[in-house]
Amino acid sequence: MSLELRISDLSKTYANGVQALRNVSLTIPTGMFGLLGPNGAGKSTLMRTIATLQEPDSGSITLGDIDVVRRKDDVRRILGYLPQEFGVYPKMSADAMLNHFAVLKGIHEARRRREVVDSLLHQTNLWEVRKQNLGGYSGGMRQRFGIAQALIGDPKLIIVDEPTAGLDPGERNRFHNLLAEIGENIIVILSTHIVEDVADLCSQMAIISHGRVLLTGDPMETIATMKGRIWKKTIAKPELASCQERYAVISTRLVSGRTVIHVLAEHDPGDGFAQVDPDLEDVYFSTLSRAGEIAAA
Ligand code: ADP
Repeated sequence: MSLELRISDLSKTYANGVQALRNVSLTIPTGMFGLLGPNGAGKSTLMRTIATLQEPDSGSITLGDIDVVRRKDDVRRILGYLPQEFGVYPKMSADAMLNHFAVLKGIHEARRRREVVDSLLHQTNLWEVRKQNLGGYSGGMRQRFGIAQALIGDPKLIIVDEPTAGLDPGERNRFHNLLAEIGENIIVILSTHIVEDVADLCSQMAIISHGRVLLTGDPMETIATMKGRIWKKTIAKPELASCQERYAVISTRLVSGRTVIHVLAEHDPGDGFAQVDPDLEDVYFSTLSRAGEIAAA
């Protein structure tokens, strides 16, 4: 039986009155799961709650047969977490730091610890730079180090919060490959506002906004439901307002300095629109705009 994370009716309101989660229910299977939403959607709140770092007001989370909210220690033993802000000791090497984390995770036997650390350094492609201070690492190296520490102790669930922000394309690619490899056997939850990361990596996803789940499913299947309904036109910027009045504009992008709009319509709107193959951005922005969010791209 493969492991499943079940979130039921989870709600959280912060002391300042912000409702960060509103009756969130999700079933997350083994594999890569993308949690997609704009800034402020509630992603980090949900991630921190699953990672047992904060409590919901109501609702439940189970990982297999573990009650995540009540049995925090049991969860922590099989959880790896890479938070958005991942602090490192800049004067320590990756090797020394991983060794230190491995002690904290309860791997007390030195030889076993050496094996675990060496294997993680290889897996995350940090072996060559293992003796260098973490302070000198690039963004991508630091993220891979973050994954290495999250993998100590064979976790069954890994939570990665906004992992590719600030990575250059090469680093992002390396990071994706690493995550894809890990996601073959365990649950990996990737929280992000970058649609492409989810499209590239995840077999299941949820779109959340203002603390609510707006859509769940297989990214490819959700894209298929949009087929024949997305229309594109290149316009002059001043035309945008009138287009927005006339059509269901779901996104506006600048492509080589020109404004390209995507419109959701069941039939050809005429007026110079051309049908396009939908992608996950179309799904994302049409879902947000249906929910009354601003479709800013
Ligand atoms: P995301 O990760 O999707 O950007 P967050 O979970 O960080 O979303 O935030 C959801 C909402 O809750 C935002 O409006 C944010 O300002 C608010 N929020 C997050 N953390 C706190 C906190 N500790 N106290 C009060 N409000 C918070």
